[in-house]
Amino acid sequence: MLKKGTKIYSILKEKCPVCQEGEVFLTKKKYELRTFDKMHVRCPNCNHKYEIEGGFWQGAMYVSYAFTVALSVATFVLTYLIYPETGVWYHITIISLMSLVMAPITYRMSRMIWMNLFSHYNSTKSK
Ligand SMILES: [Zn+2]
Repeated sequence: MLKKGTKIYSILKEKCPVCQEGEVFLTKKKYELRTFDKMHVRCPNCNHKYEIEGGFWQGAMYVSYAFTVALSVATFVLTYLIYPETGVWYHITIISLMSLVMAPITYRMSRMIWMNLFSHYNSTKSK
């Protein structure tokens, strides 16, 4: 299903957007809170520099924001359909917990999407 050479492959497998062989993050464990955000500076396979320029990752915050809003709306619709009679604080609590639980995934996914917007697959760089 996930075909190498596509951006969705790089994003979901958390591989370098250029060679799609090297890992982007130091660990695959998304809920290891001490290390989930640690990244390689350069791709271990093709030496592509992940942070293209200073402040590059600030743009990933916009992706993260959009991702969190979409997740919050989906969570609200789902909880409203299941429990339509409950109060607003019920929904706010569920949405807050969902955002908190999903934060490491959102963080990593938004960085992967952001870097894939500016870097493109090059088959000559992969082994
Ligand atoms: Zn690479």
